[in-house]
Amino acid sequence: MRHNFGAGPCILPQEVFKQASRAVLDFKDGLSILEISHRTPEFEGVVEEAAKLVKELLAVPAGYSVLFLQGGASLQFAMVPMNLLPQGKSASYLETGVWANKAIKEVVNFGTANIVASSKSSNYTFIPKDYTIPEDSAYFHCTSNNTIYGTEMFSLPETKVPVVCDMSSDIMSRVIDVSKYDLIYAGAQKNIGPAGLTVVIVKDEILGKSGRGLPSMLDYKVHIEGGSMYNTPPVFSIYVAMLNLRWLKAKGGVAEIEKENIAKANALYTEIDRNPLFKGTCAVEDRSRMNVCFVMENPELEKPFLKYAEENGIEGIKGHRSVGGFRASMYNALPITSVHTLVELMQNFAEKHN
Ligand SMILES: *Cc1c(COP(=O)(O)O)cnc(C)c1O
Repeated sequence: MRHNFGAGPCILPQEVFKQASRAVLDFKDGLSILEISHRTPEFEGVVEEAAKLVKELLAVPAGYSVLFLQGGASLQFAMVPMNLLPQGKSASYLETGVWANKAIKEVVNFGTANIVASSKSSNYTFIPKDYTIPEDSAYFHCTSNNTIYGTEMFSLPETKVPVVCDMSSDIMSRVIDVSKYDLIYAGAQKNIGPAGLTVVIVKDEILGKSGRGLPSMLDYKVHIEGGSMYNTPPVFSIYVAMLNLRWLKAKGGVAEIEKENIAKANALYTEIDRNPLFKGTCAVEDRSRMNVCFVMENPELEKPFLKYAEENGIEGIKGHRSVGGFRASMYNALPITSVHTLVELMQNFAEKHN
């Protein structure tokens, strides 16, 4: 058995894979989900249910729209300023890692990115906390979970400007208060479903104020009016996301999975802190529950440990090249038994090498 700790695209529940594969062969009256028209009532029902599940699971208040788009979170880096930033104006960004930087890079064609705080000088090992957001910012942009560096933002700054958040790697992993955000976006391939789909949750009243003409496909309002079907949507990705969200709801929803995610994170961080061979790379209070980054006290043992872990069924724990060491991603569908297996291997390895 393989334990998939990959950072993304990542593990989904086995039963979701089984249901999805059945729908590839027979979704409706012998027709595959891959061949049916997206304009059929059956598929319209899928989109409606998927949007309803997002709203239900995150308790999205009235006045927000849920959209299923394409182009990944990376397209949102540009769509956000394009839709929300009047030409030449400034938006505030919190610089907490590679993804935040890619978002910042896209602002230049539309206005100015004002970096309110950064943890770059310490290789993004913490989340900056004391900073002020100028009140004339068009919006404030942050990344709730820094997938590469393993830090997570557990609180939002107080601000009157609209808050935009890239939640690609921790959406649906913990309870959030959506009313504190004006726009949330997430590439689906971490906690929602397969690649090819981006979920956007947007407060309707913030749109239409940029004064800029937009290509239809890049205009949130066009997608709201089209019910996420202005053009052919990623039918299969939406279907599998719907199955995964059904799975999450049946498990007890986000509050319940949050408890499991806390237990998984505690199990692994406890071992990292206890085991003399390993150490965490991030500020303890900012440690991500989704992506656990750690290194070895003796870097020469990293290759042998990786080999030992891989030989024993552990998949995807090699750290990102910008951090090194290891990264264990523990998205919703990763069972706690997989975490226990990794912890045991760390203990066995320490016994052999002490
Ligand atoms: C993976 C990831 C992205 C990139 O998403 P794409 O869908 O590949 O564009 C952006 N932001 C964060 C926080 C991520 O984890």
